[in-house]
Amino acid sequence: MEKSQSHIVIFPLPLQGHIKPLLCLAELLCDAGLHVTFVNTRHNHNRLADLPALSAHFPTLHFESILDGLPDDHPRTLSSELLIALKTSIKPHFKELLQPSLKPNGCALPPPTCIITYGLATFAFDVAEELGLPILSYNVACAPYLWTCLCLPNLIEQGQLPFPDDNMDVEITGVPGMEGLLQRVDLPGFCRTQKRDLALILDTINELDAPCLSHMANMFPKIYTLGPLHSLLHSQIGDVSRSLASHGGLWKVDPNCMIWLDSQPTKSVLYVSFGTLVTLTRTQIIEFWYGLVNSGHPFLWVVQSEITLGLDGDQIPMELEIGTKEKGYIVNWVSQEEVLSHKSMGGFLTHSGWNSTLESIVAGIPMICWPNLWDHYIISRTFSEKWKVDFRLKENCDRKDIETMIRMLMEFKRGEIQSSMDAISKVARDSVAKGGSSNHNLEMLIQDIRYMHARPE
Ligand code: UDP
Repeated sequence: MEKSQSHIVIFPLPLQGHIKPLLCLAELLCDAGLHVTFVNTRHNHNRLADLPALSAHFPTLHFESILDGLPDDHPRTLSSELLIALKTSIKPHFKELLQPSLKPNGCALPPPTCIITYGLATFAFDVAEELGLPILSYNVACAPYLWTCLCLPNLIEQGQLPFPDDNMDVEITGVPGMEGLLQRVDLPGFCRTQKRDLALILDTINELDAPCLSHMANMFPKIYTLGPLHSLLHSQIGDVSRSLASHGGLWKVDPNCMIWLDSQPTKSVLYVSFGTLVTLTRTQIIEFWYGLVNSGHPFLWVVQSEITLGLDGDQIPMELEIGTKEKGYIVNWVSQEEVLSHKSMGGFLTHSGWNSTLESIVAGIPMICWPNLWDHYIISRTFSEKWKVDFRLKENCDRKDIETMIRMLMEFKRGEIQSSMDAISKVARDSVAKGGSSNHNLEMLIQDIRYMHARPE
């Protein structure tokens, strides 16, 4: 067998159905003399009993493990927590692992040649890009299923989707290579609803998303855009003190932050919150903190205690403590709608969560965005490029970038961004007022639901 300089790093999603086939692939590659580093989460690594035996059979098969940052008793099923762990906890360790290193037995491994992983492990694609390494995407689904999914747009164009009736045994044509095989019942579950029943409720504003919505109308004959829902609720019930939705949160509100806001000048405060799912590393917290303090603008920062884990009091630089005492207020949880509509509010540094974005638009507060997960990137792209109501920070921003962006928002470009925000905020408020699109769609939805109830079986 030829001694190889090729070294493949394999990362399966931490699930049984991913580990097994990729371990098979790893052994096949090692059997051909290639080096493979198989990376598991520490939790799964400790559960795989035969690792020492495998290593003896395949001397070029190496195992590494990474902490996933989840609590010991976490069930570790495919969940948003697991996907978030991939990005926040696993990514930095994975990157570190790809640096050339000596094995514990002293033998040097060739530097990584490429990565093999599942398409959902987007962090690995980022790392590959950063290190200039080729990456091969492994897909657990069978090829006909993947191909059928890729052909769904053709089926919509051909009028085969949505199904015009409830007969599930009708043959599906239009998936080349699957002729004579495929029936309606075999398509992914979300295809099963019949045309007349396909309705979609969205927390968005018709006028903002019209270009996408007009295409989506081919798939969903009924689309009820009811956004911004929180504002529609206010316009319908008037007295917001009656609304649990506006006040009810999963954490306890700190009432003192409103007293602090009352003491700040009009439009002077930057509100900072990255929502409830994004977690920051210690370095990121420190960089944001310096950016805020160095900008010289007052700030109200929601820092959930979970994200400060590992940040001991004695690790906080003195100038940050002093700067925060002078100009800032750090809080565990606020009533965000109330904060955003306070007269002292000047800007919002956000992760571009959809709820936060809509709340900021309704309140007319321009944003700085630091997108982090899922739809945050597209939300931030639309609102920075198309509507020009946010400035976007790059993912690896440092204290200087953050300070500059805050000054842009609160000082140099204030007028420009505020007038774009005023325009879009008016669109949002008009949509929920009597005669507006969301207001009208709510009436339609209620009417259609009443009709469903009244419809004979
Ligand atoms: N929120 C709040 N108080 C806080 C921080 C957040 O009420 O201190 C609310 C905020 O108003 C929004 C929600 O939490 O309605 C966050 O939703 P979003 O979609 O913006 O982000 P996610 O947490 O889902 O990432």
